[in-house]
Amino acid sequence: MDVQSFYLGAAYLLAAVLGLCVGSFLNVVIYRVPAGMSLATPSSHCPKCKYVLRWYDNIPVLSYLILGGKCRSCHAKISFRYTAVEIANMLLWLLSALLFWQVNIAYAVICALASSVFVCVFFIDLEHKLVFDRFVLMLIALGIAAAVVDPYYSALSHIIGGVAGFAAFYLIAWLFERIRHKDGLGGGDIKLTGACGLLLGWQRLLFAVLCAAVVASVVLIVLSRVKGEEDTEYPFAPFLTCGFAVAMFFGHRIISAYLSLLGI
Ligand SMILES: [Zn+2]
Repeated sequence: MDVQSFYLGAAYLLAAVLGLCVGSFLNVVIYRVPAGMSLATPSSHCPKCKYVLRWYDNIPVLSYLILGGKCRSCHAKISFRYTAVEIANMLLWLLSALLFWQVNIAYAVICALASSVFVCVFFIDLEHKLVFDRFVLMLIALGIAAAVVDPYYSALSHIIGGVAGFAAFYLIAWLFERIRHKDGLGGGDIKLTGACGLLLGWQRLLFAVLCAAVVASVVLIVLSRVKGEEDTEYPFAPFLTCGFAVAMFFGHRIISAYLSLLGI
């Protein structure tokens, strides 16, 4: 093995391990931000018996497996969601490294951080139907950085994406409210799409929103058939964040394949 591929392998391994540890922290964020709790204190504890987790109870994935998904003290069941968040974040960080490390390291880091924000928005909106401004602000900051270093699309594309994403979703929400006299899109969805337009550029934003709309339509039709309720409000941000993530990782390839198919 030559030196270069050794370093590359080390970078991928590091991305996966760091992703796992950050994923563990994201669980704290997902649990505490909607509850208005501090991220630093108190130490992680069992919600049922208040047993304070020791360091060896808090090792990503491993502790869950060793403890058999139960609290060490009271044996209450621990939700698999915690482990799912850790694994998801690990895979997203690994994917960021695999796809972009050799292209542009700064861009790979931006994608890894943005995908962690997506994980938080996904799970918090799913449970609480809320998109918190602090995540939108983080995505705007990452979007500004992405506009500067993006190897695929120009800074202008990012600026247009930000403005168009916000304006288009604002308009759709306004029209929906006018016609149906109820809220279709939340203010959180509008701000989130604007921020991700800045992050992705308008081409990938368009692709992301199309993906989200198609998947949301299919899932919501199936859900309304199964449950038989028409007027239930479903959170849209989980679909959006999935669309944004797919577009961020694969959008440039899919878009250029599509354009070459059209002969453009
Ligand atoms: Zn317990």
